[in-house]
Amino acid sequence: MDSRDVALQSVMSTVMVPHFSELVELDTPGNRILMASNGIWLEVCRAWFYARVPIAKPLSMATPYGLVSEALRFGFGKLPSAMVAQFIEQARVRSPNECAAWVVWNQQTGEWKLMMLEETSVGPGHVSVNLPTLGEDEYMVMDLHSHGLLDAFFSSTDNDDDRGATKIAGVIGNLNKPEVTALFRLCANGVFLPLPFDSPKGQEGSI
Ligand SMILES: [Zn+2]
Repeated sequence: MDSRDVALQSVMSTVMVPHFSELVELDTPGNRILMASNGIWLEVCRAWFYARVPIAKPLSMATPYGLVSEALRFGFGKLPSAMVAQFIEQARVRSPNECAAWVVWNQQTGEWKLMMLEETSVGPGHVSVNLPTLGEDEYMVMDLHSHGLLDAFFSSTDNDDDRGATKIAGVIGNLNKPEVTALFRLCANGVFLPLPFDSPKGQEGSI
């Protein structure tokens, strides 16, 4: 096989889910496609996160594949609502302009930090930023941005930005009002899953 195909397929291999034994989960950072009797699934593993999500219906023919179930687990206890609250404060100050931040988790210490992102261009309808470099044990878990005076929603620009990323994306809107609007989604290598921010504890069997 062409060495470029070897490289491409090693980044996202396809696995036949066994029928008579348990699937051995991916336990190093990467992505796999799982061929199962109950559909085609995406498996995503990161230092802070593990998920299996269905991406296509089962094949309409008999296959030798076994079953898999949905999974969503985080490597930390709770999502950092204090970091989101800090971001909302910053976003209020900068409103009506937009702004953006990363919420970074340190795997060694378990600590969180909010990093406001350096803007290269900003206005009430857009923000462009420089992306920071993280330390060895640091992982960007949440990618937050504000919509100034507008509602919280994921725009086509947001969808383009999040394509292929693995992170929790959050948008905060209506920053001039006492009650802001907020929307969160899990981006798992291009698959978007709505995430109620109050209840994203990792759980097996359902998402
Ligand atoms: Zn947006």
